[in-house]
Amino acid sequence: MYTIEWQKRDLPHMHMLVWLMNKIRPDQIDSIMAAELSVKKEDPVLYEIIKKHMFHGPCEALNPNSPCMRNTKCTKKFPKLFQCQISTSDDGYPKYRRRSPEQGEQTATI
Ligand SMILES: [Zn+2]
Repeated sequence: MYTIEWQKRDLPHMHMLVWLMNKIRPDQIDSIMAAELSVKKEDPVLYEIIKKHMFHGPCEALNPNSPCMRNTKCTKKFPKLFQCQISTSDDGYPKYRRRSPEQGEQTATI
């Protein structure tokens, strides 16, 4: 099941719910979901698309007039902290794996 919304500059944005044929265990989630750039080696075209369209910001001190700003804070809670595995926050939203360069993850210059 999915719905497509058009947000910033008419880019499509999808919310999707997937039912899996085979259950996965909590310790397998990080192998299928992450907010990282490790796709650079596997799929350089996708890496460039992500770099061009999927980065948030700049906001806060670098761009206080960004549309995401309200009362001097980013309403989307960026910048996010690095973390080694996915977890669930108190508000129920996932906190995706987001490893640091020291933990072997890629970086990008925007
Ligand atoms: Zn922001």
